[in-house]
Amino acid sequence: MERVRVGLVGLGKIARDQHLPAIAGNPNFALAAIASRNAARDDVPSFATIEEMLASGVELDAVSLCTPPRGRFEQAHAAIEAGLHVMMEKPPAATVSEAAALADHAKARGVVLFATWHSREAAGVEPARQWLADRRIDAARIIWREDIRRWHPGQDWILEAGGFGVFDPGINALSIATRILPDPLRVERADITVPAGRQGPLAVQLDMRSATVPVSADFDFLQTGPQTWDIEVDTDAGMLTLSMGGSILRLPGQAPVEQPDREYPRLYQRFGELLASGESDVDLRPLQLVADAFLIADRKVGAPFDW
Ligand code: NAP
Repeated sequence: MERVRVGLVGLGKIARDQHLPAIAGNPNFALAAIASRNAARDDVPSFATIEEMLASGVELDAVSLCTPPRGRFEQAHAAIEAGLHVMMEKPPAATVSEAAALADHAKARGVVLFATWHSREAAGVEPARQWLADRRIDAARIIWREDIRRWHPGQDWILEAGGFGVFDPGINALSIATRILPDPLRVERADITVPAGRQGPLAVQLDMRSATVPVSADFDFLQTGPQTWDIEVDTDAGMLTLSMGGSILRLPGQAPVEQPDREYPRLYQRFGELLASGESDVDLRPLQLVADAFLIADRKVGAPFDW
């Protein structure tokens, strides 16, 4: 297969930490250009905006969008309109209707749209899904508590409207839950606390159900000390635990299984498979749950937040 020439948009934390190494490590992909307002690279043509990149004449097959979710619709739309395949960071867009419109647009233009959920590529997720498929599930608990100051220093966009607040990490847990639980999840109650003067929540508690099974979620963005990214599932065969974001799987009576982080190499491998088959992959269930939580939320104003 010819190398897929990728234009990367938004040279920020996740682009540098994960996308650039994953592209460099995959022989089927080549970084061909960068579009970022305040960052550039010496080894490929760099542009301030995706529009400039698309108009430049640099030959591209695909773009990888590593920008915040708000504004991603316009970027993805421009790329699809230009006939390019698109891979998007999570959350795929600022609203469900934006993401659905992009899926329709990609289909109409005959290009591949990949709305990625990197946490689904954590090593324990697929074995957990398979193990749960044969079990009676009685309850599940999501505990996702991390320190915004440690993981998102200075990222003001995350607490702006459309930035998702603590749903930015929390949607990773929802992407795993919607993958491993056999029945569709729905939100029954949402308590959302937004710091005074900001728009994005720092704390969220959800009561959900998967068929009749209660599923709770506790998302906290002010967790200092040990960080927790756990999902516990009670079953008729004992408790399954996915911890550290899905990378460690504990099954009853078995030693924990932990594997090295391969989430982003697996995302690019999957993108390559989608390009080969011509299929898109746009699963909006995690985004829909976040939207539904906002729809029925009991909102509280919390203490002001500063970095
Ligand atoms: P980031 O460090 O702020 O990087 C995003 C980049 O996008 C910025 O450096 C900025 O580059 C560009 N950008 C374009 N429009 C922007 C706007 N309106 N506001 C702010 N930046 C804008 O953020 P990130 O942590 O990489 O997150 C980007 C996406 O990746 C998010 O959807 C996030 O959920 C996802 N993600 C992040 C992580 C993580 O650990 N941080 C992990 C997995 C997924 P220019 O200023 O040069 O244009």
